[in-house]
Formats: sequence, C-alpha cells, structure tokens
Amino acid sequence: MNTLAIRLFCGIIFAMNTTSVKDLRSREEKRRAAAADTRPRTTLSFYRYVKIADPKEFRERLLTAWSALDCLGRIYVATEGINAQMNVPKMYWDQFDTWVQQQPELNAIPYKIAVEEGEVPSFFKLTIKVRPKIVADGLDDGAFDVTNTGEYLTAAQMNEYVTDPEAIIFDMRNNYESEVGHFEGAVTPDDFVTFRDELKRTPELLKEHKDKKVAIYCTGGIRCEKASAWLKHNGFENVRHLKGGIIDYARQVEEQGLPNKFRGKNFVFDERLGERISDEVIATCHICKKKKCDTHHHCVNQICHAMFIGCEDCVQKRDGYCSWSCAQIDKLPRSFKKPIARWYNQLIRKRQTFTKTPLHIHN
Ligand SMILES: [Zn+2]
Ligand SMILES: [Zn+2]
Repeated sequence: MNTLAIRLFCGIIFAMNTTSVKDLRSREEKRRAAAADTRPRTTLSFYRYVKIADPKEFRERLLTAWSALDCLGRIYVATEGINAQMNVPKMYWDQFDTWVQQQPELNAIPYKIAVEEGEVPSFFKLTIKVRPKIVADGLDDGAFDVTNTGEYLTAAQMNEYVTDPEAIIFDMRNNYESEVGHFEGAVTPDDFVTFRDELKRTPELLKEHKDKKVAIYCTGGIRCEKASAWLKHNGFENVRHLKGGIIDYARQVEEQGLPNKFRGKNFVFDERLGERISDEVIATCHICKKKKCDTHHHCVNQICHAMFIGCEDCVQKRDGYCSWSCAQIDKLPRSFKKPIARWYNQLIRKRQTFTKTPLHIHN
C-alpha cells in the first residue's frame, strides 16, 4: 500500500471511531430537540484539580456514560483536571451520581447545584473537550506554587468580610458578569473581558490593599483556586476565596437563613445566562441606557453574536440585533455574508468588547 492509501485507510477508521460518539445534528436541530425535551433536569457544575493521565481516554469514558443518561453540558478535561457545567435529567440523577462516585478522578467531588432552572434548558448538547488547561488563565504554572491557594471562606464568613472595613472584596470575574450582579462593596474591574487579562493586572490593581484582608470570588470557585495562589505568589499574604463561588453562596444563604449580601444576578455560562440571587436589578439597558435591566442577549446576526444587555422594548424594536448595521448585514445574500464573516472573525471578533456602565467600588 502506498502512503496515500494508508492515510486514507487510517482516516476512515478514525472517522468511524469518532462519528460513533460525535453528534452530527446542526445547531438548530440540537436546540429544537433540547427545547422539545421537557423532562425536568438538574443543572450543576463541578471542578477538580486532579492528575488525569490520559485526558482522551477520560473524555471517551465521560462521553459514553453521560450520553447514555441524556446529560447535556460543556465539560473541559485536561491533564490538570476537570471543569464541568451540565444538566442531568432528574430521572437519571441516581445513576449519574453512582457512576460519578465510581470514577477514581471524580469520587466525592462537590457538586454545585443551580438554584433555578429557568425557562430555557441550560444546555442543548453535550460537548466534552480536551484542553491544555481547565481554565484559560494564561499563567505559567511552573513559575509559582499553584497548590499554595488561599483559605476558603464560607457564606457566613463572606458576609463578615462584606461589612468589615478592614477587608476588601474583589470580583475575579469579567465585566459582563459583574455588571448584572456583585457583592455589596466589591471592587469590580470594568475593563476585563477575559480572566487571563484580569489575572495579569490584579496584583497591580490591589497593591494599595496589600496589608488588608482580601476576599476574592467568582461564579463557582474554580477561577479563585488559581487566582488566590497567584496573589499569594505576588505577596498578598491575607487572601481568601469564597468556597463554591456565588452558586454555592446562594445555596448556603438559603439553607442557613443568612442575610444575602449579593446584589442582582449571577451570570452563568449556559443558555440561561444568569441565576437571580436577589430581586434587585442593578444594570441598565445598553441600548436606551435608561431602563433598569439585567437580561443578556446575543445579537441574532450570527456573524456578530455579540452579547449585550437589552430591555424588552429595545430588543423587540431592533428585532434582536445589537445594532442597525447588524440588521442590514444579516439581510445580505449568503455569498456576501461569507466573506464578511471571515473578515469579521479575523479583524473584529478578537477585539470585540462588552461595554458596561462604569463600576468601581460599590457602597
Ligand atoms: Zn432599552
Ligand atoms: Zn450585532
């Protein structure tokens, strides 16, 4: 057999292997199927830094088991661990949990269960990806001790920090997350759209508070594991982080009847785009800049897909487009849109930012 034939043969075998687990339906088909499936589901997230010797094998194991239980979600697997956001049909919860407990990498992993399910399903497909890291933090893990993390804070301790003038609360999330919800008195840097950027500049931003007690928080706690170790490496001795993030804070507040110090909504990375933690709406519509609103939308022009906060009236008036030009581009024939999409992806998308109302320290 010549080389080309061998390659072709290997390609076919590879395709046969992968298509057996790959979901080939279009985005719309998946969305429709997920919306039509009305079985009640539990949305949860979990992560663990754990050595995974063969992430590809681990991925196949998860995909086989979780597809069989009709689980949906987005899961990242790396040699450093797992980061999962997903939902499980309630009827399969026990089988799901039993299987998870049997896996040496996942045994006794703490689940963070969503406080509300929302009208739309949290996910419409199951994606499990092998990545170099489970969170894109841009840090060189070899350059500092990643295991030297800060101590945890419970919800009750977090509340003490919020009212303590000697403490500083720092939001480790991106601007589109903190705009709709944050802890009372928290510092929410307003110019970061990636965790990577924020981590790089946090030691500088916090340097005047080096001697204070520092509490950091994020959605489910995973970002703070690395961020607290990074801050300690940069000389912040007194840094602690909220265990289980805002998701678990909300659960503890409810279970223990604690006062809720989180204002607004917790942005989540699934189709719901947020969980309401307090009834307060703290953001304003990006279009009219008048109405109080904290609903995120994605521009319906698939080329743009930019996220914005829009009130019902504005979104309706604009047919779901973020701008007038997006509506015009979307009306063009396919043959015109293709090169525009290519140009947009190469030049604009990387620099696309979410413009939020400036926020600094909140009282
Ligand atoms: Zn508006
Ligand atoms: Zn747009």
